[in-house]
Amino acid sequence: MDDHSRYRQRSLWLDGALAVFTPRPRVAGRIDVDVAIVGAGYTGLWTAYALALRDPALRIAIVEAETVGYGASGRNGGFVSAGIAGEARVYERHKGADGVRRAERAMIEGIDWIGAAVTREAIQCGWVKGGAYRVATSAPQLARARAGLEAKRARGYTPDDAWLVTAKEIVAEVRIAGVVGGTFTPHCARADPARLARGLAAACERLGITIYERSAARSIEPGLVTCPDGSVRADVVVRATEAFTTRLPGHSRSYLPIASHMLATEPLTADAWDAIGWAGCATVADQRYQFVYAQRTPDGRIALGGRGLTYRRGGAIREDDEVQPAIHAGLERALRRLFPAASEAPISHRWGCFFAAPRDWSMSVVFDRASGLAHAGGYSGHGVVASSVAGRTIADLITGTESELISLPWVGHESRRWEPEPLRFVATRAIAAVAASADATEDRTNRKARRIGLVRRWLPGR
Ligand SMILES: Cc1cc2nc3c(=O)[nH]c(=O)nc-3n(C[C@H](O)[C@H](O)[C@H](O)COP(=O)(O)OP(=O)(O)OC[C@H]3O[C@@H](n4cnc5c(N)ncnc54)[C@H](O)[C@@H]3O)c2cc1C
Repeated sequence: MDDHSRYRQRSLWLDGALAVFTPRPRVAGRIDVDVAIVGAGYTGLWTAYALALRDPALRIAIVEAETVGYGASGRNGGFVSAGIAGEARVYERHKGADGVRRAERAMIEGIDWIGAAVTREAIQCGWVKGGAYRVATSAPQLARARAGLEAKRARGYTPDDAWLVTAKEIVAEVRIAGVVGGTFTPHCARADPARLARGLAAACERLGITIYERSAARSIEPGLVTCPDGSVRADVVVRATEAFTTRLPGHSRSYLPIASHMLATEPLTADAWDAIGWAGCATVADQRYQFVYAQRTPDGRIALGGRGLTYRRGGAIREDDEVQPAIHAGLERALRRLFPAASEAPISHRWGCFFAAPRDWSMSVVFDRASGLAHAGGYSGHGVVASSVAGRTIADLITGTESELISLPWVGHESRRWEPEPLRFVATRAIAAVAASADATEDRTNRKARRIGLVRRWLPGR
């Protein structure tokens, strides 16, 4: 299969964004720049974009193994959402409770920063900032939604940042079956992720940044990125390779590369949309341990993901593992159950991609001025906003700009390495089994509670 067809098959979004595909040049011979960035996902692109805004004189090159947006940036759920990527307790150890509160605020503000860039650069990615619902379909899920909200309040969320909503309020916006309540935050936009990545790449090029594609870095060293047919020399080298980092020499235990999976329907009929509503395009996620998340896409489909993750023993990243029949069947059941009006909708795309899970599940932004090496990533599947915050932070660190960003708790944070196999494999299996079993128990309890409720309605005297 040629590269163009292979890239298009990676997700609904890449299929659409790459209808027309003109590959960029490969790295050939010796290239000299001031800053070399490896990886053309959001982290690499936002770093380059923010650097060029800070210092237009910098010569910047991005080196991408495949094509812009090939990684999770071109295949995700398109939730441009608030919420820190990682564990509050990890960040609290570095910068205290105040650091965590500032981190939460940076993520909230990061959404509008991206939105402003989308407007400024006229990026056609279906951007709608309609907020996000977290919906519960059982009493335990509702209790978890409440607990999640309280935890956010403790981290500085005000009543205007997120609040409880009733089932009636949710269903008035989007007709989800079986919902018993949930939470809403205005801090979320939906976007077509691949068009966001590729539009951002075009904006970078307008600022004079050069992007090389189909040029996998074999090694990343101080001052030097080596590719099969050439090399890039630079004062500063930024590694923005997220899950794929584990393929680089010496990094196999830096992250767990974990695949998350999605599917999309064909565009729904006008009748189906009349039944579902969802005019405001708020994103939706449920509150199961193995949760699902969904967006109404700019071209009128439902794109839905979640319900289980894939980790291959040894941490291999293989395109063959992206479609998982059991997980995709579970996603399809969730789609039909949550959106009965889409019960007959054909599924047009099934896909998956890898994200990076660090040992403490918490992100890092690191710049070592002495070696000129920088890296960012480890967003644990929550990196759309985090990657842009990280990219702007690296730009500030490189250019020596004093800013609030460089004082956030993930700056300078390094997670320790994962254990060797078979421990990692066993741990991922155990975590998945516990989550699945907790969901199954709740489902049984919920069914029993519903049956009891039904019987009570028919008892004498009611
Ligand atoms: C299915 C799925 C759904 C998700 N949904 C959401 C969501 O809705 N909201 C959210 O906030 N987050 C979501 N995420 C996470 C989010 O997509 C990622 O955190 C984010 O895209 C990471 O961006 P990145 O640039 O760091 O990494 P990537 O997008 O993975 O980019 C890394 C790039 O580096 C390139 N590369 C790797 N190795 C080399 C090399 N040796 N040489 C050159 N180039 C190299 C890759 O080809 C790739 O293009 C989701 C992730 C997945 C997998």
